[in-house]
Amino acid sequence: MDMRNALRVMTVAVLVGTLGTLGACAPEAGEPSAADAGAAAETRTFDWKLVTTWPKNLPALGTAPERLAEIVGEMSAGRFTIKVYAAGELVPAFEVFDAVAEGSAEMGHGAAYYWRGKAPIAAIFATVPFGMNAQEMNGWLHYGGGLELWRELYEPFGVVPLAAGNSGVQMAGWFNKEINSLEDLQGLKMRIPGLGGEVLQRAGGVSVAMPGSEIFTSLQTGVIDATEWVGPYNDLALGLQEIARYYYYPGWHEPGPAIEALVNREALDSLPPDLRAMLETACRAVNQDMLDEFTARNAAALRTLVEEHGVEVRRLPDDVLARFAVLSEEVLDETAVTDELSQRILDSYRAFQESVRDYHAITEQAYLDTRDGVDR
Ligand code: CA
Repeated sequence: MDMRNALRVMTVAVLVGTLGTLGACAPEAGEPSAADAGAAAETRTFDWKLVTTWPKNLPALGTAPERLAEIVGEMSAGRFTIKVYAAGELVPAFEVFDAVAEGSAEMGHGAAYYWRGKAPIAAIFATVPFGMNAQEMNGWLHYGGGLELWRELYEPFGVVPLAAGNSGVQMAGWFNKEINSLEDLQGLKMRIPGLGGEVLQRAGGVSVAMPGSEIFTSLQTGVIDATEWVGPYNDLALGLQEIARYYYYPGWHEPGPAIEALVNREALDSLPPDLRAMLETACRAVNQDMLDEFTARNAAALRTLVEEHGVEVRRLPDDVLARFAVLSEEVLDETAVTDELSQRILDSYRAFQESVRDYHAITEQAYLDTRDGVDR
């Protein structure tokens, strides 16, 4: 325990002692006072486990839950501790949702497109090909009804989702051959999760789902021909530049994926209101912090990839992107028709995207075009 925490614990101990003394003076002997009840509630401690889908020590995605745990520990002066486990330490990456649903871990950290086996529409709460960017996604989740729909979707599993990170627009991925036309995608085995994977499949490729920890070896040994992961900062950390030559953009398949914190419903309900508020506030803080970190680090990492590792950055051809866009709408429509809730989720997502698109056309987009397009 560092000095700051030690002081906080001492302060809480003194406060509890004072309240206990005051409480003992006022009521009749044997009668519990409000102060006693308050003091008892404040000394309860909670020690949670958080399992993640991320490789150990992975920057940003993997360190975000660590930061979340730190914030909660500091804010609660040690009353609420969260121990973070990387993928495979307690459960494999793709068993995180089940672990939280069953309560073997109180929390998880991952991305909703990993749980398409539970509900195919879940992928929308991570990201949608040609869908919303990070700023728009956060607007939908927190002010456009998205989070309520997300909670409704996970409700039958006893799991409560919170937004807890976003990578911003990702890169399209790593290839060892050039992609000049749709022909080059035929039979191509690519690690690509979520709805984007289904789009690739329909375009003639073969989509493979695997957690981050398996990507390097799979690409190196030819289990897959290509892969997407995140962006320069995370991809450099995984070492993908050592086994692939071409780095394609834009990340049509993941324009602003929400990273989620999963909380076991009963565990969440067991928290006193102050600790619950700390947890929710910490998630919100980490949600923004991850985007800030990616924004700052990706640009530098891209320079390193190009200048020190000779990576060739390429743009996907327009006709390939246009075909992906058409197929994306098909995939979305078919994913949503399965049930009423799925359709409601897709309708809400599309309506929000439509409404912000018109606004962003004359603000964010118009501004960037202007800033970077004018001659000086
Ligand atoms: Ca990705």
